[in-house]
Amino acid sequence: MMTLKELKEQIKTEENVNTLKKWITYYETFLNDNSVSLVPLINYLITHKMSGKMEDMHSLSTSCMLNSFCNAYRSNPDWICNKCYAFDTLERYPSLKWKLALSTILLTTTILRDQDIPFINYFDFRLEAFGDLNNEIQVVNYFNVARKNKHLNITLYTKNPFIIASAMEKYNVSKPDNMIIVYSEKILNFIPDDEYLNGLFEKYPFIDKIFIVYTDENARQYLITRNRKCFYCKLHCNTCKFCYRKSAPEDPKVIIELEKSEMNKVKKELKKQNKKGSL
Ligand code: SF4
Ligand code: SF4
Repeated sequence: MMTLKELKEQIKTEENVNTLKKWITYYETFLNDNSVSLVPLINYLITHKMSGKMEDMHSLSTSCMLNSFCNAYRSNPDWICNKCYAFDTLERYPSLKWKLALSTILLTTTILRDQDIPFINYFDFRLEAFGDLNNEIQVVNYFNVARKNKHLNITLYTKNPFIIASAMEKYNVSKPDNMIIVYSEKILNFIPDDEYLNGLFEKYPFIDKIFIVYTDENARQYLITRNRKCFYCKLHCNTCKFCYRKSAPEDPKVIIELEKSEMNKVKKELKKQNKKGSL
């Protein structure tokens, strides 16, 4: 994990990071005198400008680049991490990269007190859009953010539920009622059976939903042959919000995202089937 000193060293030569430098100094002031509130800094770390599926959503996140799990997961060609969009995004936007580096250092080393957590003026909020859980402190912080903002539907996406389980034990904390935890499956085109799903929800009862990405025909076959209730990711969170709502017992717990081309194929097939049915 990068230290604040290393971050300062690395950004020395970068241009356009004056704002970040200001916030690093602010954080250092807090570290020397914790009567200083972290609220303005946390407000700065919230990402407001998201794109693609996350357009118009807001998040607090760490950096995949500094996450040892992300870096290990990336090398497996059968895992979604091998195609991680967050790495590409951070490569393209250095100011976001450095901002998330500061976010990672802060959220994984400092337990936020009530007075450090801002009121987040949204209804739906995402935790981890460019990285994942690194350690237990981060979990405690996210729980505290949710607890302080009871009005929020706050969704944490993670491939590392073992860190949540460990944090709950180590810090004796429990999942806040307004938090939704989505387990993001690492394996691409994964077809879970009942045994897998029951085992997952039993081992990690705090998980609300599981999210799986498909890039080939397997998804369609999965739906047809297993006849399992799934929710198709709508690829636009701000209008969909399925991951930001608690599930009713009858709701699907498995969310599948199809790559666009595959999604079009399935739509075409369904259209054909509907036509046949109405003949
Ligand atoms: S865990 Fe998420 S952020 Fe990390 S490498 Fe995998 S897809 Fe990317
Ligand atoms: S299912 Fe809906 S809320 Fe969840 S990731 Fe997809 S578009 Fe976003």
